[in-house]
Amino acid sequence: MRKKNIILLILVINIVILSITACTSSKNQESLTRTEFLMDTVITLKVFDNKDEKVMDKAIDRLKEIENRMSVTIDSSDVNLINQNAGIKPIKVNDDTYFVIEKAKYFAEISKGAYDPTIGPLVELWDITGSDEKERESIPTEEEINKMKTLVDYNDLILMEDNLVYLNRKGMKIDLGGIVKGYAADEVKRIFLENDVNSAIIDLGGNIYALGDKPSGEAWKIGIQDPFTVTGNYIGILNTIDSSIVTSGDYERYFVHKGERYHHIIDAKTGYPAKNEISGISIISNKSIDGDALSTALFVMGIEEGTKLVNSLEDINTIFITKEKEVIISKKLESQFTLSNDNLKLKTNPF
Ligand code: ADP
Ligand code: MG
Repeated sequence: MRKKNIILLILVINIVILSITACTSSKNQESLTRTEFLMDTVITLKVFDNKDEKVMDKAIDRLKEIENRMSVTIDSSDVNLINQNAGIKPIKVNDDTYFVIEKAKYFAEISKGAYDPTIGPLVELWDITGSDEKERESIPTEEEINKMKTLVDYNDLILMEDNLVYLNRKGMKIDLGGIVKGYAADEVKRIFLENDVNSAIIDLGGNIYALGDKPSGEAWKIGIQDPFTVTGNYIGILNTIDSSIVTSGDYERYFVHKGERYHHIIDAKTGYPAKNEISGISIISNKSIDGDALSTALFVMGIEEGTKLVNSLEDINTIFITKEKEVIISKKLESQFTLSNDNLKLKTNPF
């Protein structure tokens, strides 16, 4: 690992430990905690009831397995094999990879491409990882963007029998970065439940699953990240039991060019980072895979269109934070959410 990445890692770990502790600890609530750098982010697992290191090991091993199969940057991954064989031949992938790609295609369809797993060529062109310098000399040219845009289309992602996956055209690339952490959180939840862990916080770089309730029987208090200040500050607290809370925003992975911020969620229609009234969006759902895909989709769609989409689905609630410093929550969250930052204004979603 490069030196600046190590420094970044230590920083992030400290922030995460501090913020999670602040959020979940109270007397008599010692947890068994594991922190690792995986899936290009800081993973923190906190178990409050069955504190068994072996269960932690199982969960971490599963996360590594998911990363090895679904990361676009690992040469031997299913995803990379599909990409290398785009326009050449279908690739047989593992059951879990197939499941995630199937879900990804579903969310691409219902969001009409706001979430699009074939976004790979544009993600690669923009190369916004956030771990590097914040200031950049140049951005991709119109010509480059237009060329890559033609390679993005989920209709050309073909799922066949026997776990075969095919990209129709050479140069196409899938990127599951907008969905895989959600799937991974669901998998950790499954492993925990199978091993008698019923009270835990699964935090995959801000993609959180609050499993069960606190050992005291109270609801978890989950801080919703403030998009306007450094990681670890909250705009408010969500009281919740047994649910996934996934947040996407323009504040973590980005660079600045000529005073303008370019973040990592790309609108396939324009080829540029999505631009609308949203600064941050949190999705509260039962399945984290749904929350992850939808957080990316809604970030691209904006509040009105995005809300219409989630209203057509079951049991999905949202917290939008706008550039105008409004916090817009689903009606159902009114009794669960408390704003803690005076600089913002709380509203109920009108759509
Ligand atoms: P994060 O991974 O930072 O938590 P997201 O879940 O919103 O945030 O995922 C962003 C990632 O998804 C990007 O880093 C990229 O890999 C991928 N991505 C970017 N734009 C899109 C898009 N329009 N549809 C699907 N995936 C996207
Ligand atoms: Mg996402």
